[in-house]
Amino acid sequence: MADFHCDVLSKLLADPDLDPIDSANNHGPVTIDATLDRQRAGGYMLQAYAVYLTESKPKTMDAVLRSIDLFERKIAAHAGYRKVLGRRDLERALQEGKIAALLTLEGADALQGDGTLLRTAFALGVRVLGLTWNYANWAADGVLEPRQGGLTVKGRKLVDEARDLGLVLDVSHLTDTGFWELVERTERPLIASHSNSRRICPHPRNLTDDQLRALIAMDGRIGLTYVPYFMTDRGQAEARDLLPHIEHICSLGGENQLMLGSDFDGIEQYAKGLRHAGEAVHVRQEVERAYGATFAEKLLGGNAVRFLLKNLPD
Ligand SMILES: [Zn+2]
Repeated sequence: MADFHCDVLSKLLADPDLDPIDSANNHGPVTIDATLDRQRAGGYMLQAYAVYLTESKPKTMDAVLRSIDLFERKIAAHAGYRKVLGRRDLERALQEGKIAALLTLEGADALQGDGTLLRTAFALGVRVLGLTWNYANWAADGVLEPRQGGLTVKGRKLVDEARDLGLVLDVSHLTDTGFWELVERTERPLIASHSNSRRICPHPRNLTDDQLRALIAMDGRIGLTYVPYFMTDRGQAEARDLLPHIEHICSLGGENQLMLGSDFDGIEQYAKGLRHAGEAVHVRQEVERAYGATFAEKLLGGNAVRFLLKNLPD
């Protein structure tokens, strides 16, 4: 199981006493969905950890550094994980049976249009960058920003600098305008770390068929997410509501580009039977039952790993 998006770091930043290793140490009301014991129960081999700063506080580089420091001390330092900076780390993690831990940045806000801050984030291990969360920042408009703009001049410069560094760019949360500007601007494959199909579930955070086709054509990746209202608009969601998304994206040719991006620890409402990383086994069961073990292996981890082995630095 490879999961390209969770918000454990955001919860740790709010409460550094939370334990991302052993869920028995978290006594609520806030707990952690993607703890090590739950990831192991879910059969995880890779977890992407997003640095995400909430809207309620200033989005500063200081908060980014605190998030990365928490990642280093409370996650990467544990023997159950190996931090992934490049291909070799990923290969080693897989050989050792450790969970590969990948650092991502959800929203460029804190980078302030400053190449030094971008390079610093990269030097500290950030390997995937999403330009925005749901709203506008200096780089681009997010998907819920009423004016629905694309990239700013500074945002375009950021994209060029990110490309030169070898960062993977993430289109989840970006406007449709921004999506297509990004496609024009970079030859490197893009990912949508946590978005579903808009045809199956009409929500602006999901992807149109044209966007899905573009991601598939560039051999990018699409991470299916367990946010219930991105899965279905017909009430209570459960793991099997991912199947129509899978079927539709495969009908567009995306069998080798599908992966998972749970959004655990970033969601307040949960799909039934998808309350935490341990319950990701329900996704495995549904996919294996519907499409067999060979396809399940690709969707649940193989496609994500192949992408990283091709697109990460050495
Ligand atoms: Zn998100």
